[in-house]
Amino acid sequence: MQYISTRGNQDRKRFCEILLEGLAPDGGLYMPVAYPQVDDATLTRWRKVYHEQGYASLAFEILSLYIDDIPADDLRALCAKTYTAEVFGTGEIVPLRHLQDGVWIEALSNGPTLAFKDMAMQLLGNLFEYELARRGEELNILGATSGDTGSAAEHAMRGKKGVRVFMTSPHGRMSPFQQAQMFSLQDANIYNIAIKGVFDDCQDIVKAVSNDLEFKRKYKIGTVNSINWARLLAQVVYYFAGYIQATEQNSQKVSFSVPSGNFGNVCAGHVARQMGLPVDKLVVATNENDVLDEFFRTGVYRVRGTADTHETSSPSMDISKASNFERFVFDLLGRDGARVKALFGEGLSKTGQFDLSADPVFAQAAAKYGFVSGKSTHANRLDTIRATYEQHGMMIDTHTADGLKVALEHLTAGVPMVVLETALPIKFAATVVEALGRDPVRPAQFEGIEALPKRVLVMDADVPAIKALIERECV
Ligand SMILES: *Cc1c(COP(=O)(O)O)cnc(C)c1O
Repeated sequence: MQYISTRGNQDRKRFCEILLEGLAPDGGLYMPVAYPQVDDATLTRWRKVYHEQGYASLAFEILSLYIDDIPADDLRALCAKTYTAEVFGTGEIVPLRHLQDGVWIEALSNGPTLAFKDMAMQLLGNLFEYELARRGEELNILGATSGDTGSAAEHAMRGKKGVRVFMTSPHGRMSPFQQAQMFSLQDANIYNIAIKGVFDDCQDIVKAVSNDLEFKRKYKIGTVNSINWARLLAQVVYYFAGYIQATEQNSQKVSFSVPSGNFGNVCAGHVARQMGLPVDKLVVATNENDVLDEFFRTGVYRVRGTADTHETSSPSMDISKASNFERFVFDLLGRDGARVKALFGEGLSKTGQFDLSADPVFAQAAAKYGFVSGKSTHANRLDTIRATYEQHGMMIDTHTADGLKVALEHLTAGVPMVVLETALPIKFAATVVEALGRDPVRPAQFEGIEALPKRVLVMDADVPAIKALIERECV
């Protein structure tokens, strides 16, 4: 499989070349030149693989269609090492839980940091270690987090050879549980940097350091953000696993509802559907930050300014723009890279928006690609968490509640709806307490983590000081 940029540059790259890279040189995102097609016989075979050999074997089947520069035996071993009951809490890895007639929750949050980001990040950690060793290279991951991404990255990279993680976060602004998840890590290759400032200050530091190309090259600075193709690819697997669990035969269609922020998760659903998985609808659920819902309703994509970006009780979906959205638009526009470049490059930087409402392709987002959308507010979130607990005895987190709220608006008789669970309620305990008047269940291994010794550097939002830290640690 070869990969091209969404912005028209026709250089073709292979999987391991783009694995450690961020954006393509023309500013676009990498996409496979074509989607491998999964026919009925293959899907039937994969059912057997999942049921008889498990999730890791299914992951190998799917990943091997996209990765041809890692020997098959090595790739199989990497999948087997990643998707274990030990790491993901259950042998099924992504069990489906029945909620009500025709509605299921796919559990994706039983990994080390209790959010679905572990599904991809754990694989990325093993792929990075493998590829860096093969090249005899090192990588210093510099990131900014407001919670989930940073902790998933740290737990995936801890103790990995050839990798250091420098993770900035806004000092005092993450929940005690999130801080404990990150700061209690004692691994020598993990650096927690609490910045005296807000999340934007952290992101600005990452940008400033990455824009110093000489520094970036000398210190092998990289990222693990959601535009990484390997992360997206890893997520494709659980759409197949969810489908297989929700159906008995391939003639059945299934819809998925996805709590969405940067459009990474639901874009993986789009890829699965393009491969031929019988998906009816892909339901894009947003919170008050409704950039994506607005697009799917109106055809207008409008990036929000800081003042219009709300801090919500489903904070991992608080985005001003959706960084993976360009991938879908590339397909929607018939893979016209020049046009994508005009929309996302010049267009967005000038006016902060583009409008496809008058373009005939807009109707295809729903008709051809199955996308529908909806939005959920704080009040909806509380109602949904309460109703789910009262009616079904199931506690769900705030993001999953957004997914469920919007899913219920898009049910079709006879089509199972699978809602992707993106985090466990303990991560967002305050809102769950607000809804239910009681504390969420805490998995045993997280008892008392807030009291563990912390390993964190508190620093000013000072780019030279961060660079000096990296220089000092990389000798
Ligand atoms: C990251 C995240 C999301 C949003 O996923 P995207 O891939 O950015 O759309 C939703 N819920 C939780 C809990 C997350 O951590």
